[in-house]
Amino acid sequence: MPLRLFYCERCGHPIRFGASRCGKCHISSPVVNRKPFCWAAGLSLVALAIAGIFFV
Ligand SMILES: [Zn+2]
Repeated sequence: MPLRLFYCERCGHPIRFGASRCGKCHISSPVVNRKPFCWAAGLSLVALAIAGIFFV
């Protein structure tokens, strides 16, 4: 079963993680559902953690 973290704002359909559009009504999904966004968020968290280790 695919991972579904977000629901469509318009129709409430669960949107697959990484999908750029709702599978039902095809409007754009929230930008936080995009994989590149998650990679960027993850990378910045890792960078912050590393910065915390070295500079605290
Ligand atoms: Zn929808």
